[in-house]
Amino acid sequence: MNDKLPDSITYLVVGAGVHGLSTAWHLAMELEARGKGSGADVIVIDKTGPGAGATGIACGCVRNLYMTEPLHAILRHSIDVWNYDPVAFGFQQVGYVSCGEANQLADYERIHKSQNSVGYASDLFTGKDARDHLTKIWPDFKHHSIDVVLHEKPSGYAGTRQAVNGLVEMCRRHGVRIFPRVELQAYDITNGRLSAVHTTAGTVRCDAAILGLGAWIPDHWKMLGKPMTLDVGYANGERVAGKDMWTYWRLEEGEIYHDAPYYSGDGRNPPVLHIELMNTPVTDPKTGKELLDNVYVYWKNGTERMERPGIQGGVMPVMLGPEAQVEPYGPANSKYQPGPEFPDYMTACMEMFMDRFKGARERFKERRSGGIGAFTPDNVPIFDWIFDNIYLIADSNHGFKMTGVGKLVAKHLVSGDAVAELQPFAFSRFAEGRAFGAGTTHSPWV
Ligand SMILES: Cc1cc2nc3c(=O)[nH]c(=O)nc-3n(C[C@H](O)[C@H](O)[C@H](O)COP(=O)(O)OP(=O)(O)OC[C@H]3O[C@@H](n4cnc5c(N)ncnc54)[C@H](O)[C@@H]3O)c2cc1C
Repeated sequence: MNDKLPDSITYLVVGAGVHGLSTAWHLAMELEARGKGSGADVIVIDKTGPGAGATGIACGCVRNLYMTEPLHAILRHSIDVWNYDPVAFGFQQVGYVSCGEANQLADYERIHKSQNSVGYASDLFTGKDARDHLTKIWPDFKHHSIDVVLHEKPSGYAGTRQAVNGLVEMCRRHGVRIFPRVELQAYDITNGRLSAVHTTAGTVRCDAAILGLGAWIPDHWKMLGKPMTLDVGYANGERVAGKDMWTYWRLEEGEIYHDAPYYSGDGRNPPVLHIELMNTPVTDPKTGKELLDNVYVYWKNGTERMERPGIQGGVMPVMLGPEAQVEPYGPANSKYQPGPEFPDYMTACMEMFMDRFKGARERFKERRSGGIGAFTPDNVPIFDWIFDNIYLIADSNHGFKMTGVGKLVAKHLVSGDAVAELQPFAFSRFAEGRAFGAGTTHSPWV
């Protein structure tokens, strides 16, 4: 970390989360590779420090289960980034197994086909084959109404703090300077072009700024005079007038203690498991009372935040609306702490699908958890210029799945060429009737 903020720089990255750090590191490599400069031309500022936002508290799951097909190619780049140094990033390429009911079959088939067409290998199983596949991995699996399974091979999970530390280290190795406790407070923009930013540590002139501001993006959007509502045209011809530009959601994740090794039948670290059964209720294992009329849960081995072995998982996020109190962020914010219904439901789901989780509610680690995220009008990321020289990375809360975006953005910035994988995520899609649409899911992510 550095003390003296320069008064001018070529690339100013704002926000030291997964996107800011990945972009800064890749900018350095791209500049070096093209003989156009080096990491000395890039700085990152963060009002707190690396990993102070969602990046520092996420589950770190990396999956590619999206109806939005252009995301499949982005994910392929993200896996390349994690595999650049899986040890430094704590990346466990264990795979990702998603389970659905028969009503999701057509969606799963489409996703499977699209994933494989971009070189993201996945296997699709249906009916008895799907259930047998699950039993092979988890011998105590109880299938309920599961009828389709997609097994993504390149997916897995990254260590949360490990990923932050690893990305900081990559920046450091390439000479990128990171300035914690430097808050951007105002932008100097003339005729659509940024000339300087004002920060708590002084004014910085820059040629280009890259914003990776996570849940703080709406504040900056407002500061930059951008519209807080817009008319959205979807690819299916539907139009919605006056939609909120940003909607906050609360992400709920937690852990249970699990002292016995959480292994698959063949003694390996099992894939991340994701189950969404839209027509299957979840009941309290003790009282038999219905907790919710559908299943939406995911979990994975291990967690960085526990003093004993454990499992970390999460459930469907909760929509908050266009206004939210971002500060203090994450577990420090008392307003957004989940009630007991969250552990009741998460552990009931776990017990419902595997015998090994019997009594999981008693093993839930009681602690403050979760955080909020700002989602775009179609819940799909925006990667685009929002002024002549201000590039926005608004991931709509897909961060660990999108580490490859920094690599692609760096390529675009340094080469000046359009990058095909980023183009579907342009802001203009809302006005031009190319916003992304729905799939068979309750999830905001389609
Ligand atoms: C509980 C939870 C679980 C999640 N689980 C997963 C998961 O399993 N898989 C997955 O892919 N994604 C997950 N996500 C989403 C993922 O964490 C985010 O999408 C991602 O981390 C966002 O990264 P970012 O770099 O855009 O923003 P952030 O990590 O939020 O970083 C933004 C940074 O900007 C800084 N900042 C804010 N304002 C200013 C300012 N004015 N000046 C300077 N700096 C400023 C902040 O201090 C912060 O460090 C989860 C999110 C949450 C909250």
